Amino acid sequence: MAKATIAPPVEEPKREFLTSKVYDELGMDRDPHNLYLQTIDAVLTAAEILELPHHLQLILAQPKNEIMVHFPVRMNDGNFQLFKGYRVQHNNVLGPYKGGVRFHSELHLDDVKALSVLMTMKCSLVRIPFGGAKGGVKCDPRAIDRDELMRVSRRFITAINKQIGPDLDIPAPDVGTNAQIMAWFTDTYQNMSGSANKQDALRVVTGKPVDMGGSLGRDKATGQGVVDVVTEILPSMGLPLEGMRVSLIGYGNVGSWTARLITERGAKVVAVMDHTGAIHNDHGFDTALLTEHVAATGGVAGFGKGESSEPSVGSGNGSSGESISERDFYETPVDLFVPAALEQMIDEEKAGWLDCKVVAEAANAPTTPAGERALLARGIEVLPAILCNAGGVTVSYFEWVQNKSSLYWDLEKVDQELKKHMVLAARRTQLARHRYDCDLRTAAYIAALEQIGRVYSMRGIFP
Ligand code: NAD
Repeated sequence: MAKATIAPPVEEPKREFLTSKVYDELGMDRDPHNLYLQTIDAVLTAAEILELPHHLQLILAQPKNEIMVHFPVRMNDGNFQLFKGYRVQHNNVLGPYKGGVRFHSELHLDDVKALSVLMTMKCSLVRIPFGGAKGGVKCDPRAIDRDELMRVSRRFITAINKQIGPDLDIPAPDVGTNAQIMAWFTDTYQNMSGSANKQDALRVVTGKPVDMGGSLGRDKATGQGVVDVVTEILPSMGLPLEGMRVSLIGYGNVGSWTARLITERGAKVVAVMDHTGAIHNDHGFDTALLTEHVAATGGVAGFGKGESSEPSVGSGNGSSGESISERDFYETPVDLFVPAALEQMIDEEKAGWLDCKVVAEAANAPTTPAGERALLARGIEVLPAILCNAGGVTVSYFEWVQNKSSLYWDLEKVDQELKKHMVLAARRTQLARHRYDCDLRTAAYIAALEQIGRVYSMRGIFP
């Protein structure tokens, strides 16, 4: 039986992949597998459609600053280990650089560059006054203990302390980092900055614990934003959330919050995969229980089976799942598929396996260009990452505003303001799609670039 689709297949893209003249001018290699090239190419496609001046395309094609640092950390066994860290500052025409810090064993400069571009586009799309940045440390946070993690965190911020600041560049959590690490970042910066105004230095990091100046609602913000966007867009595609079947890759911060919040709107999460395995429950998981299981065991594998790996019981109330293969996970029939793990997971092959109507990119850059072409050709809509996952940086902005004013908001206000930004960003994207007759990713970039283009045209290029 043919797999269900909701949109007419999109014709071949108007512009071939990696054909911009900008690459020659900047002497960039055209490697189609490189995440940075994949990311910037989608931006340049939108820039060409929008007829953004050529000099702005050149400026946006490379980050302003690429900072790479190496620092030693004494490990618990007494030996020293040398760590590599990055901070890439892509663009600050709209405001201070802003972006998360990732701790991951597979982290390369081009990945960080790509993620910094997405931040520039995301902040512009949701109209918050920040530019784009990203950072990270090449390390496996699961393989080192808490004290070592604290020393890595503090040494990283020490190494980049002159390049960040409350009005210069503001880090936040990403994969492998959390509110505790943000607390160590903030404390290190406050101790190193020498500023008399320690309170104001709090604004240097967002995603802090609530007791240390963090915002209510920041923890769930990215998942909340995903749900705000799908609630705004999917019903107009004939897909109400009530009764919708959903699958997710990744059950960390973004995946687990998306799952819990979308379940509250009446959807059923029927399949989940993470680095420990894939599980399925046709009745829909109890997503709160699954969150507890992941917190206790580190992953979704073995949910509801106890430590003795007995066969699952009680699947009807969602308190367990059967283990399935990766291929079965992708082929599970759902309405909505939410990648919420890492980049480049949905390639052409996986796109062919998927049996869904819409992909909502909760992760950054989870779909390769070839994967996206395959999805669009099958009439599967792709809601792009810069729209879907902009909720995190939006509430980070609210945290920064609250720190600046020392006036703290209740959760209701955070949620309301977040929803306003997300709904307007979704409408801007849909409007650009109608105006330029393009896919949603290109439309989201156009909507972001319109704002950046306007500001550049007013400011001009110094001197
Ligand atoms: P996290 O570290 O909390 O969770 C990552 C998840 O990915 C985990 O469930 C892990 O098991 C899973 N994963 C890792 N490798 C995998 C693999 N090979 N196969 C299947 N699953 C795998 O990270 P997070 O904060 O939830 O971020 C997830 C994505 O969302 C990233 O792309 C991140 O950049 C993006 N994002 C995060 C935020 C935020 O506020 N945390 C904001 C915007 C975008």
